Amino acid sequence: MVTNWRDDETESVILNDITIDEPWAVVERFSHLFRLSGSADELEAVRYITDRLANWGVPYQVHKPTCLISLPGPATLRTVGENGQTYTVKTSAFSPSTDGAEITAELVYVPGSQASGINDLFGAGRTVSHQDLRGKIVMTEGLGIAARGIDLAASGAVAAVFINPGHRIHEGITTTSWGSPDLGSLGRTPPVPVVGINKPDGEALKAALVEGPVTIAVSNKVDTGWRQIPVVVAEIAGNQASDEFVLFHGHLDSWFEGIGDNATGDATLLELARVFHKHRDRLARTIRVAWWSGHSHGRYAGSTWYADTFAQDLTANCVAHVNCDSPGCRWATVYHNVFFMAEAEGIVQATIKDVTGQDVTGGRPLRAGDCSFNNLGISTFFMLSSTMPEELVKEKGYYAVGGAGGNIAWHTEDDTMEIADRDNLLRDMRVYAVALIRTLNSPVYPLDYRAAVRQIEGDLARYQAAAGDAFDFSPALRATADLNATLDRFYTEADSLMDRSVDDPAVRQINASQRLLARSLVSVNYSRDGRFRQDPARAIPPLPDVAPVVELANEPIGSDRYHVLRTHLTRGQNRVVWSLRQAERRIAERIQ
Ligand SMILES: [Zn+2]
Repeated sequence: MVTNWRDDETESVILNDITIDEPWAVVERFSHLFRLSGSADELEAVRYITDRLANWGVPYQVHKPTCLISLPGPATLRTVGENGQTYTVKTSAFSPSTDGAEITAELVYVPGSQASGINDLFGAGRTVSHQDLRGKIVMTEGLGIAARGIDLAASGAVAAVFINPGHRIHEGITTTSWGSPDLGSLGRTPPVPVVGINKPDGEALKAALVEGPVTIAVSNKVDTGWRQIPVVVAEIAGNQASDEFVLFHGHLDSWFEGIGDNATGDATLLELARVFHKHRDRLARTIRVAWWSGHSHGRYAGSTWYADTFAQDLTANCVAHVNCDSPGCRWATVYHNVFFMAEAEGIVQATIKDVTGQDVTGGRPLRAGDCSFNNLGISTFFMLSSTMPEELVKEKGYYAVGGAGGNIAWHTEDDTMEIADRDNLLRDMRVYAVALIRTLNSPVYPLDYRAAVRQIEGDLARYQAAAGDAFDFSPALRATADLNATLDRFYTEADSLMDRSVDDPAVRQINASQRLLARSLVSVNYSRDGRFRQDPARAIPPLPDVAPVVELANEPIGSDRYHVLRTHLTRGQNRVVWSLRQAERRIAERIQ
């Protein structure tokens, strides 16, 4: 089995060299640096990392792309009239700015809901209001993360207030443009200023509304513009197939000290760069280690710039990308909600079991967190790794957050040294190291695309059930069945090559086929907007071209919308079938 390969000797040599001291020094140093994208503190963090790399002789480059970056400034909210009160609020990256001028209007509360879990947090959950919100300031529950909450453009509201779930107001970003915008992503920012308020203050405003009409005045300042940000990429060349590479990456920028999100990840990247460089004679393929800026304040601007700029290289040569965000946090002792594409489930399960003895839950990666390579069609596993057990979250009365191991210090002033945990960090670094060694050194990549096709088949079956007689998915289902049959023969051959070397011509060929499989299957399953574009930062359902089929059941047969949906699905299925057939032809050619 290609996903079961391991080299115990190399793993133990590398694991024995991973220490906590060097990474802990990174975390401590970063606790004095507020790493806003493009800031002087962030450049200091770049200097720290590149000094270390230079000392060890690890080759690296610092790129300085110009990206659209948005830094929230001060914001105010006060009730107008007798006994007017002021409240503490924060505005978000990419919120329109009032430049400090107040917008005064009647406050309207629209009941919403807080995210129930991380999948929900980045999901498309919308609050529907039947009230007339034109000219009003609307208030609802949520973090104000783009794509959640009120449809502000349609509502006619003049500003929005999001009630956070706890005592702290979480920093965030409201645009759904993934990375710097192009023509296709213009208009993906909210049309009106957005501020966040904490729960007690939000409840106080709700209570005041029960008494009678409330007029409030809000203002904010947001500094949005194209600015230079740093992107650091170290490269440790493999010695058998150096053109094939694994991209190991995480974000350098932060909100405040950003210890759990993402100083611990930056430290992991640096420690593994050190150890892999020291044992570079043992690496068959190349590893690139990248620290991005522009994650928090540019909606993944750094990794997206890299995907754009090195698109041809990534498309031709990238084996997989592995994201590292928020490892090694306090109380994060379990591996739940870990993200991996289906083809990587085997290596993820085996690695975490081997290193920690634990089982993993999780699956399909969310459209979040520097997963900027889906349109290109590159396989991935991990983003977040360990997290707090569910019972502990409940016991502490915590709510869903998007990192820091489930600590609600995430994206707040509280994400300080106490959020990092030495033992958990060491354990997570070992998990990443083993997964990377196996991906770098396994003769045939430890990725099984039969699992990806089975997942696609399952989703198609679900969509067929939703469609009933209104739409026929049998062309796509036949294509998955044919591809699976061909892949069974392909993996029989792959299994027979597992004792060869990485640079054996037959191994090189079969891996080239695996990369082509990924380019077809990942892009059709995770994106809609074309190979060299970026889908928006909002939930992307499986096989997004045909996912709207779930609406069909609710449409009266023969209605306008019914016909529009069927037209959409016919075109969507064409892309799905073409992608599956393309993948099959490439594999069939090689095994004849
Ligand atoms: Zn993060």
